[in-house]
Amino acid sequence: MSPSAPATVVERFEPEEWPAGQISRLLLQLAHDGLSRPIELPVLVARGAKPGPILGLTAALHGNELNGIPVIRRLFERLDPKTLRGTVVGVIVVNVPGYLNHERGYGQWDLNHMFPGNPRGNAASVYVSRLVDRLVRRLNLLVDLHTASVGRVNSLYVRADMTNPEAARIAYLQRPQIIVHNPPSDMTLRGAAAELGIPAVTVEIGNPQRFHSDYIKRTLTGLRAVLADQHMIRTRAVKLGPPPVLCERSYWTYTDHGGLLEVSPEVTEHVEAGQTVARLTTPFGDLIAEYAVPEAGVVVGHSVNPVAETGARILHVGVPAVDGDPRFHQREAVGSTESGSDED
Ligand SMILES: [Zn+2]
Repeated sequence: MSPSAPATVVERFEPEEWPAGQISRLLLQLAHDGLSRPIELPVLVARGAKPGPILGLTAALHGNELNGIPVIRRLFERLDPKTLRGTVVGVIVVNVPGYLNHERGYGQWDLNHMFPGNPRGNAASVYVSRLVDRLVRRLNLLVDLHTASVGRVNSLYVRADMTNPEAARIAYLQRPQIIVHNPPSDMTLRGAAAELGIPAVTVEIGNPQRFHSDYIKRTLTGLRAVLADQHMIRTRAVKLGPPPVLCERSYWTYTDHGGLLEVSPEVTEHVEAGQTVARLTTPFGDLIAEYAVPEAGVVVGHSVNPVAETGARILHVGVPAVDGDPRFHQREAVGSTESGSDED
């Protein structure tokens, strides 16, 4: 496809409308702004020559969380629709207004707290409702690509309902550093997809407002493993990295006073119960408080913004699941068939 290949404007994604064995470019109209201009989401569609599942990838649902964009573009650069089985749909930017404003939100709203939306609701609610109705409900699998928020850093981690065997399988194939079990039904895109019977996971790829090449590569390898596992692309054995830490839950710790905050552990580090993880000081440098974690865990993410008001986030602690916890689908169930390509 030439760099200037035109995109077709559509109001609805219908997979069978696109030519088999080709990659197509779409602009999906979801709404209009106050100057009556259409808000159009750039979408890539690779419809394989052979029938198979429809895998959806979504990036920049939070408009300043950008690492999913190169993940989708690079995945499509390497896809051969002539040999692909099924269809891959990549929504390069979900939250177009947020992206243009370098912001997480959609105006005053957080889109990932609005799903499944309401077709007669407020601006953000209509937007997500149309996204679900016009695209998401046609998918068979969904991987929603995010990053940390401004002022924080994340590990490469996946949020998934690990009691759902298909979502758990995608989570393990993605080969993140950490997996956090999260039930669905939480007004997120992932939850809305799950309610439609579409196995879905959220991948948190590093930090906002930048491209993080190492995590982008790892996410690509994971997505190719998912494609191979679904028999959409040919399997290629790879050397797998260390297995992810499965967490049964996770939570943030917060300051109870304002000041200047310094957090000491790095992401993916293990912390012990009672271990001091942060110091809070006055502008003059006097110590206000040292903060510890209440229980042992793994650092999923943490604040990097020293300016902390009362109630500022400190550390995102993951609590590892007990080995063999019967509630969760275990890695062994996936292990032997894990595959994918091994670079970029
Ligand atoms: Zn996000």
